[in-house]
Amino acid sequence: MRLTGIIVDEILHGADGTDIRCGVVGEIGCSWPMTASERRVLQAAAHAQAQIGCPIIIHPGRHSDAPFQIVRILQEAGADVSKTVMSHLDRSIFDTKKLLEFAKLGCYLEYDLFGTEFIYYQLEPDIDMPSDNDRIARIRMLVNEGYEDRILMAHDVHTKNRLMKYGGHGYSHILKNIVPKMLVRGISQERIDKILIENPKRWLTFK
Ligand SMILES: [Zn+2]
Repeated sequence: MRLTGIIVDEILHGADGTDIRCGVVGEIGCSWPMTASERRVLQAAAHAQAQIGCPIIIHPGRHSDAPFQIVRILQEAGADVSKTVMSHLDRSIFDTKKLLEFAKLGCYLEYDLFGTEFIYYQLEPDIDMPSDNDRIARIRMLVNEGYEDRILMAHDVHTKNRLMKYGGHGYSHILKNIVPKMLVRGISQERIDKILIENPKRWLTFK
């Protein structure tokens, strides 16, 4: 597939006519329901990963079935799901049983909307955006279920108002405010280090 060639070339040689090489494929945006072109991009990323062992990160559509469908498409196209991150799980899968079912599939489980707390989620009004305390509770549950090697955390800073300059939390929110609260909730420093240091390092290493 031509798309696979482009992805591999941007990793091995450089992107957009430069010699700057990409370190990850993504974040690959998917809608719900998924479009035909999104499916092709996922398949191309899977083929690239099968060739060169690159890390992949996916933005799922806003529906609890979306992450499952994406993993299935990737697996059918030969991807290594253990080198793949499913981002935005905080707004995607709320049901505990369903989340644990998803965790079994073996990809990284990312809680990456830390600092985002509001009542009205304009991208999908039917979703109740969780609070940071809710996110910590989910992570604690996943740790207790044995998934400490699969959890990732981030801020998803993508708008100006999230930056400190404009009154937001900035990029230090997790380290300054979330880690102390995780300790209060009984998640050990050793486990926090796994989540914040070891897991991203392992994911980012080409296989
Ligand atoms: Zn995203």
